[in-house]
Order: sequence, then C-alpha cells, then structure tokens
Amino acid sequence: MSVPAQLRSEPASNVTELGYVGIGVSDLAAWRAYATGVAGMEARDSRDGFQLRLDTWHHRIDVRQDASDDIGFIGWRVRDQDALEGMAERLERAGVAFRHGTEEEAEERCVLGLLKLADPSGVATEIFFGPEIENHRPFHPGRPLHGKFLTGEHGLGHCFMTQPDQDAALAFYRLLGMRGGVEYKFDRPNGEKRRPIFLNCNRRQHTMSFGRGYEGKKRINHLMFEYTSLDDLGMALDIVQEKGIPIVRRLGRHSNDGAVSFYFGNPSGWVWELGWNGRDVPAQAEYYRGDYYGHQTDATGYGL
Ligand code: FE
Repeated sequence: MSVPAQLRSEPASNVTELGYVGIGVSDLAAWRAYATGVAGMEARDSRDGFQLRLDTWHHRIDVRQDASDDIGFIGWRVRDQDALEGMAERLERAGVAFRHGTEEEAEERCVLGLLKLADPSGVATEIFFGPEIENHRPFHPGRPLHGKFLTGEHGLGHCFMTQPDQDAALAFYRLLGMRGGVEYKFDRPNGEKRRPIFLNCNRRQHTMSFGRGYEGKKRINHLMFEYTSLDDLGMALDIVQEKGIPIVRRLGRHSNDGAVSFYFGNPSGWVWELGWNGRDVPAQAEYYRGDYYGHQTDATGYGL
C-alpha cells in the first residue's frame, strides 16, 4: 500500500548527506596516485576509470576519464523510497525538471533508486536512497592511516561550488532541504564584498557552500574530506610537501566548522581540502570575518 502524498511529512524527505560524487579527469594515473597515496583512499577499478572508497560504501567517488577535469555529478542521499517519492513531489510542485533514474542507472551508482536533475549551475544532481554497504569488504586505505575518514552520519564531506547565480543556488539547495546562509563577511582590499553561503543537512557543520567572487574556470572549487585523527592530516601535509604538490591554503582553523585543515591542488587543477576535528552545526546562526588562524593563500589561480 502506498502512503498518500499528503501524509508524508515534508522534512522526512529532505536530503540527509552528501553521498557520492563523480569527477571527470584527464590523467587517471595521476589521480589514482593522488587519491590513494596522498589522501589515503582506496581505489577499485571500474569500467571507465576507477572508484574511490572511504568507508564500507561500495564507493564514494567515481573517477572517469574525460577532458572536463571537473565535477561530473553530485549524489544526495534521502532516507528511503518514501523520502525519494516525497522529494519527487516537492520538485514537481516547485517546477524543477527531473526524471526517475532507470534500474540500470541505479545499478551503475550502486543504489536502490534515484532521481536525476541539474542544479542551477548545470551540475548533474542525483537524489538517491539505499547505497550498497559492503560490510564484507572493510575499508583498506591506500596509504597507512592512524584513523579513518569521518563519514557515517556526517556524510562524505563538503563541496564548495562555483554558482554564477547565488540566489538561485540558495533556493535550489533549500528546496532539497538544506539549511544555512551567510557565515563569513570578507571585505577585500579592492572593495569587493564576499559573502559565502554555507548549508548543512546533517551533523556536519556545512556540506555545501558557494559564493560570489569564487568563480573559477571549474564548476567545483573544492571538495573537503575529514580525518578522525590529526596524525593523518599531519602525514598528508608531509606527503603533499614531499611531492611538491601546490599548497593553496596553508594549515589553519576555520571559524565556521572549527576544522583544522589545509588546501592543495589536485591533478585536474582544482582543490582538495583535508581536515580534522570539525564541529557539529551550531544551534543558532552566526557569522565571522576571519578564521582562528592560518589558511593563508599560497599557490594562486585556484579561485580561493
Ligand atoms: Fe572548505
């Protein structure tokens, strides 16, 4: 028996986490070495490239060979099939174009079902439920790790996007059930006012962010992953420096998510951020004009 739409409570169909992403890369070998040898993720071969594991999910990142060197798609999780249908009704009411993914498309993502749409900047967006969890295949890091990647109820991490229309992006991600808004006010020496927006959908302080002034050549600015151990962050910093990988923002601590982190270039010319000890979403909104310390810009040209 299917539950009538009006009996489905709206918040129950909100997105609950950043579940997976797909990226297109021109240099598969460089990316494999980077994701496993620097960050410590586990790689497994796939039809078009390889996939990366951070935990017991079948995979969290799909890496395929193409010339975009940019984000390919973003997958947002909802609780179950009811939540997916609730979201479909919500999108329909809001006039947002979408379609249900086929069984083959769900198989390809290793999920039970999904919707396919695009966010206001044109990034392929998927809303899915039921990821494949491989408890029989424990996570095996690509380099020794003291701890793990912080995922679980925090989701995969966070992404910072280029969004030419900030208001449209905010409306779209709020429609998906995310909350939040401006958390920093930066007044640049050239008079430019930057007011980046940070949105949350679970315990992680922010999962999606974007802001005017951060427009780069890519649709994605950076992806952030979090370790449970400071030692893994320190080892990553050592490896980045040993390999001569450009550091885009030095080690520092953000005021909003509280995480100690640094930013470094990836083989596609955009940025990964690795962090540790992020805090949960605060109960009430607040904003900042600077970080606790650090995060000075080092390598330039990355839109950060
Ligand atoms: Fe970040």
